[in-house]
Amino acid sequence: MESRKPRINVARRTRQWLLAPLVVITLAFGWRYPLVGFIVPLVMVIGLIGGVIRGRYVCGNWCPRGSFLDRVVSLVSPKRPIPDFLRGSAFRWTLVAVLMGLMVYRISLNPGDIMHWGRVFWMMCLITTAIGVSLALFLHPRAWCSICPMGTMQNALGGHKHQLKIDASACTSCGLCARACPFGLAPVEHRDHGIMEDRDCLKCAECTAACPVGALSWPGEQDKRGSEQAA
Ligand code: SF4
Ligand code: SF4
Repeated sequence: MESRKPRINVARRTRQWLLAPLVVITLAFGWRYPLVGFIVPLVMVIGLIGGVIRGRYVCGNWCPRGSFLDRVVSLVSPKRPIPDFLRGSAFRWTLVAVLMGLMVYRISLNPGDIMHWGRVFWMMCLITTAIGVSLALFLHPRAWCSICPMGTMQNALGGHKHQLKIDASACTSCGLCARACPFGLAPVEHRDHGIMEDRDCLKCAECTAACPVGALSWPGEQDKRGSEQAA
């Protein structure tokens, strides 16, 4: 397989620069204009639908907070490895129960007032963004994403779908895919299995762009390339 210059996923990064301000807008205006808080459940519903189809694809490509962490907060993050306990199921599902329980409880205090709902969503966004930014400043830009309840649910719903393919015969074990991954994952460690088995893969295609020998691809891609070459 021919070698090529490592690239970045320009389309994704441009999209993230456009999505990142949504976090600031929600936090800045959500208390005064509570309906702005409804951006939160909208993103949650999109995340869950996306989760059923492609696991954490929405986390990696369309989440405003993920975009904010990747594009803005990462500029000042020390990018230390994410500790294993933050990636473990016990901690993650406990946090799902605590944060979802808190949200439902707060809404139940005044369920007939739509403005109250908006304020609760705003408060959830404030709490989780504060934790996310703090973790990014001391640890890794996406440390929050390893425990984010939406990410945990997307992982469970469809983490096994549309998995990254690894051509072990082409891979030179250079490790550039691991260095490009915004979530600290290492596709190269899965080369012997032929697919990226980690259900937390964000399907962001930063590693496919970075791989200098084109050893990484998505389901259907190589078939498409093959039929184009044959035509
Ligand atoms: S899959 Fe990763 S380790 Fe293998 S050649 Fe591509 S960038 Fe290098
Ligand atoms: S393994 Fe590749 S597609 Fe998955 S999160 Fe990392 S860079 Fe993105």
